[in-house]
Amino acid sequence: MKTILISLFLFVSPYLHSQDISYNRKIVDTLSSSAFWGRGYTKGGMKKAADYLVNQFKLLGLKPLGKKGYLQKFTYPANTFPTSMDVTINGTRLTAGKDFIVSADSRGIKASGKLEQKDSVTFINIENSILVTFEKKLTWSAAQEVSNFTLIQLDKTKFTELPTFINVNIENKFVKKFDAANICAMIAGIAKPDSFIFITAHYDHLGGMGNDTYFPGANDNASGVALLLSLAKYYAIHPQKYSIGFILFAGEEIGLLGSKYYVNNPIVPLKNIRFLSNTDLAGTGVDGITVVNATEFPTEFALMQKINRDNKYLKAINARGKAANSDHYFFTENGVPAFFIYTLGGIAAYHDVYDKAATLPLTEQFDLLQLLIKFNDGL
Ligand SMILES: [Zn+2]
Repeated sequence: MKTILISLFLFVSPYLHSQDISYNRKIVDTLSSSAFWGRGYTKGGMKKAADYLVNQFKLLGLKPLGKKGYLQKFTYPANTFPTSMDVTINGTRLTAGKDFIVSADSRGIKASGKLEQKDSVTFINIENSILVTFEKKLTWSAAQEVSNFTLIQLDKTKFTELPTFINVNIENKFVKKFDAANICAMIAGIAKPDSFIFITAHYDHLGGMGNDTYFPGANDNASGVALLLSLAKYYAIHPQKYSIGFILFAGEEIGLLGSKYYVNNPIVPLKNIRFLSNTDLAGTGVDGITVVNATEFPTEFALMQKINRDNKYLKAINARGKAANSDHYFFTENGVPAFFIYTLGGIAAYHDVYDKAATLPLTEQFDLLQLLIKFNDGL
């Protein structure tokens, strides 16, 4: 009888009791796997991720936010690298992602020739418009345009001699209208269904670079998606006074395009959003978190600080001002109170092939889940 009572208590209790993040782990592992090819621009990666995530919302029992289904579709231009990514320097074939990256806006080229040294880190082949640079760290991105040269960045630590000769076969494909979609779901409020708390995270990442290399984006931002889905899982069982809206944005890495599109085409009026919490890079946390917009919304920040102090969740919650560094930005600019939360410490992998699920600790996913539940409750 006692066992039954305890398990009943656990089931109906408003807060979660065991530090079980197996669901979050499963989401991060899945989204970071090669099947999703970095949730970007080649091998259908972003579309596959969107299909998977719509299915997660369905499984959790969430309804679409609007009347037109879960997907809010839009398009934008993207430079992509679907196939050849061969670079040989001084006769040695390099590994894409580890030895070199090609800058996101590079044009494709098939050529070979001498490299002329310009300074200690810059080498050029003028006739083919190829620029080669030494970098301390390789950090990739995504681009909406193609430039008129090819920039190949080398990891300096992998080279003992200067690059003097290059063979290159890189194919790019400029996609004028890449099909992307935000994924929008909700849990209706019991007392005030027209008022919303929003929880957001981008699910896109950089995608792949050639046939064999993809950028897993475990921390950026499979971790934020996992946190969002675990909140959806909680709220599906514990509906609130207000409605809870969930948006998984596309096109963040290429310039906050998904959130910009949503703000220009809101599915529920922006004025109906009481508060929005965006997470991007939520996979660590040994040194706590930083809250962007903390100084813009001091009352809400004080509430978050108090909850954290009372419950001893995170080591530190640092305040930061406004910043256009994730999907909260256009919401704030258009009058929606919003925080952007990211975790601190642990790993340095960022926009590279080392941002993997296997090395991502997910240190604070459970505490962040609890913190956000209590925060939203206190708004
Ligand atoms: Zn990100």
